[in-house]
Amino acid sequence: MKTIGLIGGLSWESTSEYYSYINRFVKEKLGGLHSAKCLLHSFDFQEMVDLQHNGDWDQATTQMIHAAKTLENGGADMIVICTNTMHKMAPEVKNEVKIPLLHIVDTVAEKINEQGMTKVGLLGTKFTMEQPFYKEYLSKHGIEVVIPNEEDRKIVHDVIYNELCKGDFQEASKDKYLHIINRLSNQGAEGIILGCTEIPLLVKQEDTFVPLFDSTLLHAKAAVDFAFKKC
Ligand code: GLU
Repeated sequence: MKTIGLIGGLSWESTSEYYSYINRFVKEKLGGLHSAKCLLHSFDFQEMVDLQHNGDWDQATTQMIHAAKTLENGGADMIVICTNTMHKMAPEVKNEVKIPLLHIVDTVAEKINEQGMTKVGLLGTKFTMEQPFYKEYLSKHGIEVVIPNEEDRKIVHDVIYNELCKGDFQEASKDKYLHIINRLSNQGAEGIILGCTEIPLLVKQEDTFVPLFDSTLLHAKAAVDFAFKKC
């Protein structure tokens, strides 16, 4: 079994989901008292949020590269960035390490392609929804993206940072998200990417008939699959 290197704390609410999923998947595979071999580099989220919201992406990139190198030097066999937003600098991080980086969009896109869908809605931070890095990567997989209108994007973004990343899960916010999901579905989205690793803590598949793609679950599953891959 390979050692999974997690870059987390972005926020820890979702990193704990990754930790729980990867251990559960390893237990399912091996049984007994088996658990995942992993290393975690966990940020102080407030520091990273300040960089993001001040537009200091260069400093954020430097810190992400440092985290990846620390994991590599510590013996990790792969890098898993436990957030969609911070895949903005995935190419730079990937260039600076010798071990593979498991890109979250590859894992989500694989599932969307498997379901035969070509047009999906995307919910995430405004960085993920508005900047090109995520949508362009999806388009390389032949997937077209619909994003919420400006007002809805603000709701989705604010709920992430003001509530979900603080462990605050409110029914009223869930209702707002479900309305936004319905609007995207009416615009032709065949499914919805929960493209922020905290959103699956609020919205579950049983809440809607629209198919959801849970980036946290899919990414964690891909990490464990890779940990057992012979290469
Ligand atoms: N975890 C979130 C994501 O998947 C947002 C937190 C962040 O800004 O990294 O995008």
